[in-house]
Amino acid sequence: MAAKHYYVTTPIYYVNDNPHVGHATTTLYADTLARFKRLDGFTVRFLTGTDEHGQKIAKAAEQAGVAPKEFVDRVSQKFRDMCDGLGLSEHYFMRTTYGYHARVVQAFFQRLRDKGLFVKRTYEGLYCVACEQGYSLSSLVDGKCPIHKTEPVKMNEENYFFKLSVFTDLMRQRLDDETRDRSKDVAGTIPNAMSLQPATKRNEILGKLREGLDDVSVTRKSVTWGVPVPGDESQVLYVWYDALINYVSSLMKDRVDETSTAAPDLDALIKADDFRNYWPTAVHLIGKEILWHHSAIWWSMLAGADIPMPHTVYTHNWWTVEGEKLSKTLGNAIDAVELAKRYSRDAVRFYILRDGPNRSDADWRHEQFVNRINTELAGELGNLLSRSLGMLEKYCAAVVPGAGSGNAGAKELEQIAKGLPNKLREAMDQFAFPQALDAIWELVRRANRYVDETQPFKLAKDPAKRAELETVMHSLLQTLRVLAHVLPPFLPDASEKMKAQLGIARETVGGLDEACCWSEAFRGVKTTKGEALFPRVEG
Ligand SMILES: [Zn+2]
Repeated sequence: MAAKHYYVTTPIYYVNDNPHVGHATTTLYADTLARFKRLDGFTVRFLTGTDEHGQKIAKAAEQAGVAPKEFVDRVSQKFRDMCDGLGLSEHYFMRTTYGYHARVVQAFFQRLRDKGLFVKRTYEGLYCVACEQGYSLSSLVDGKCPIHKTEPVKMNEENYFFKLSVFTDLMRQRLDDETRDRSKDVAGTIPNAMSLQPATKRNEILGKLREGLDDVSVTRKSVTWGVPVPGDESQVLYVWYDALINYVSSLMKDRVDETSTAAPDLDALIKADDFRNYWPTAVHLIGKEILWHHSAIWWSMLAGADIPMPHTVYTHNWWTVEGEKLSKTLGNAIDAVELAKRYSRDAVRFYILRDGPNRSDADWRHEQFVNRINTELAGELGNLLSRSLGMLEKYCAAVVPGAGSGNAGAKELEQIAKGLPNKLREAMDQFAFPQALDAIWELVRRANRYVDETQPFKLAKDPAKRAELETVMHSLLQTLRVLAHVLPPFLPDASEKMKAQLGIARETVGGLDEACCWSEAFRGVKTTKGEALFPRVEG
C-alpha cells in the first residue's frame, strides 16, 4: 500500500503583532492533528510560519527605527519561540521573506497574467492599512473599518486587478458539490472531506458567492516592502496575495533554484512528488477573520493557475476572556506560553482542545481552566494511573499479571479500547476535538468505575480470589497502556510520563489499531510508580 500523506497548515502569522492565544489555538489544533495522523500511520507535513510583507510592516519597522528585514526577523522569532514554548512536534516554519518563496510567487503571477486573468486599471477607493485591504463604502461601519474601527484612507493608484468574477460559478459548483467523488483527486486520503468545515462556514461563503465576486486589486504601487511584480518594478504584490501562495511554495522549496535568473518551471514543480504527495489533500486551519481569502480568493487563484483546490478549510472562531473581548486596551491577553510554564504545556493544550472556539466563540475562564486540571487531568486520568500502579505494587510486586479468570467489566474495557480508533478518526476528521477527548475519557471513566465496582483491596484479602484480582489489575494496566499510546496528540508530555511509569517507554506499536488492543507482551512488564501526572493546583 502506498504511504498515506497528510498536510496540515496554520495560517502564516502576520508579524505586526506579538503571538497571542488565537495563534496558540490554531497552532495547537494543527499540532494535535499532525500528531494524531502520524500515530495513525500517515506521513505528515505540518506547516506554520510568518507572513512578513506589506505596508503595515514597513510602517511598524519605520516606527521601531529599524529596516523591515530586521524588524520581521525579530517578530518572526517570537512566533518560533511560541512554537517551542507550546512543544510543537516536527514542523516546517515558513517565512515569506525566503527567496524561493518570492520566485514561486512571481511564477504564479506570471502564469495568471499569461492567461489574461489580470487587468490593469486605476484603483480608487477606501483602504484600511491595518487590514491591508480595500473596503467599499457599504461595508464600513459608521465610516470606519469594521475590524479596526479606524477611518480608511483614500487611495488612487493604477493596480493589477485579478478577474475574480471569472470564477464565481466554479466556486459555487465546488461548494454545492461537497459529496463529489474524490477518488480521482491526487493522493485522495481524507475520507468524507468537505470543502469548508464546519458547515455553517460553507453556507456563509455560498451566500456571498450568490452576490457575485468583484475583481480584486492584487498589487500596490506606493509600497516597496513586498514581492515585486515580474516585469513591472513599479508595483509589488499585495501581502495577502503573496502569503496565500506559501501553502504551495513551501512544498517546492527544495526544487527552486534561488540563484537562477530563469523563472521556476511551475509545471515541473507541480508534477514533482514533493508536491503531489501533499496537494491537493491539504487541510488549512484558519481563524474566521480570514475565511474569505482562504476560500473564494485562494481557490480562484489556484483554479486560474490550473492547480487543484485544497480539500479542506477548517475555520475556528474566537476567544473572549472572562466574558470580555480580547483587547490591547483592556490588557486581558492570554499568554499561552506563560501559562504553559506556570501550569503545564499539557494543561494549556487540554483546555484549548476541550473548551476552545472550535465550533463557536469560546470564553477563556481561568476558574474553568483550573477546574479542568483538577478534575479530568488530576482527578480522573492522574488518579487512575497512580491508584492502579499503587495497587499493582502492593498486590503484584509492580509486575503486570496475566488475564486471570476474567469478568464482565474487563470485557467492557477491552471493547471500549478497541472501538477508540474509529471514534478518534471520525472526530479528528471533523475537527471535533472535544468529541475526541470524550471518546478517550469514556475509557478513563469506565476504568475508574471498574476499580470502585471490583474493590481490589477486598479481593486482595482473600487468597481464593487471586485470579479475580489479577483480572482487575491486568485490565487496568492494559487500559493505561492503551491510554499512554493514544494520548500523545492530546497530552504529549503526560503520555511520555505514563509510558515511563508503565515500563513501555521503548515499546513501539504498528499503528493506532494495534495501540488500542490488549497486548500479550505487556504481561510480566515491571512498572515504576512515579510522581503525580498532574499535581492539583490552587488557582
Ligand atoms: Zn481594518
